[in-house]
Amino acid sequence: MRKLAFGYSTRCNIRCEHCVAKGDIPDSRKMNHDKAKEIIGEMARANVGGISFSAGEPFLYINEISELVKLCGQLGIYTRIVTNSFWAKTAAASDRLVSELKENGLCQLRLSYSRWHQKNINRNNVLNAARSCRKIGLNYYISFVTDFSREDDQYEEFLRNHCLTFFPEPLIYAGRAESFKRRSILTDYQANCCDMNPYLTPDLDMYACCDAGSHFSETNFFYLGKLNGSTVEQLFTKSETDRLHNLIRTMGITNIASFAGMKAREIITYSKCELCRKLFNSPETLKMLRAEVSQLTAWSR
Ligand code: SF4
Ligand code: SF4
Repeated sequence: MRKLAFGYSTRCNIRCEHCVAKGDIPDSRKMNHDKAKEIIGEMARANVGGISFSAGEPFLYINEISELVKLCGQLGIYTRIVTNSFWAKTAAASDRLVSELKENGLCQLRLSYSRWHQKNINRNNVLNAARSCRKIGLNYYISFVTDFSREDDQYEEFLRNHCLTFFPEPLIYAGRAESFKRRSILTDYQANCCDMNPYLTPDLDMYACCDAGSHFSETNFFYLGKLNGSTVEQLFTKSETDRLHNLIRTMGITNIASFAGMKAREIITYSKCELCRKLFNSPETLKMLRAEVSQLTAWSR
């Protein structure tokens, strides 16, 4: 199923130290609302089955996002909103907004949570939002961003103590987290396959990967093009027919790294997105992989 992270606006009301957003200047780009509706119509025609409203903080434009959610529902598109829960200060305020979204057809809320988010947002907001979802019958989960350090134990304990549904998400060392100290990684030799859902920016640029993919500045490896000049169908097809993109989905980044000459001992010291960047944000490595993609495809057990 085609899915997409819809960046309606990059504006956020807080400034987390770990955000994948780049730079010190607040980024407040926003899509034109009518254009967004037109794009969603085109997405439905291109068989996009799921849209996640993410990027900045979608609840800053909740009336406009609600309208887009409703439109998606009418067109049969599954919807999710990713939020920092700033709006859930009280149980009553939270219940009201969650009910409205449920009535408009929202399918899921994803609540961001971490020791960095919670410097700006009281963790009880996240609790209120999750409880409202349970009460009103809206599917939710908490995305617990962590660098797996002991400091995060108390944050995880809070989620467990309140019996909340959560999934740990590894911190991505991109954007503002670029300069963070890396942990030493001791894992199995994992495949590191990646679904790669595309990301649409408020300026209508589309990238094949919704997380760190827009930061590959040396090669622009994940950049698919602008929706002004191309159709949704053309941009999705571009990634779906790119042999290296498909190998990331099926073979995984670890095997590609091994093929490219990296030692196994070195490979296991990288997190997934860092390994991805090491390979695909290097013009020389990318050139070699493109040239040898047929041999790489045959590099199977
Ligand atoms: S991580 Fe999310 S909540 Fe934090 S600054 Fe970035 S967009 Fe805002
Ligand atoms: S591993 Fe690569 S494709 Fe997957 S999320 Fe990270 S940067 Fe994107």
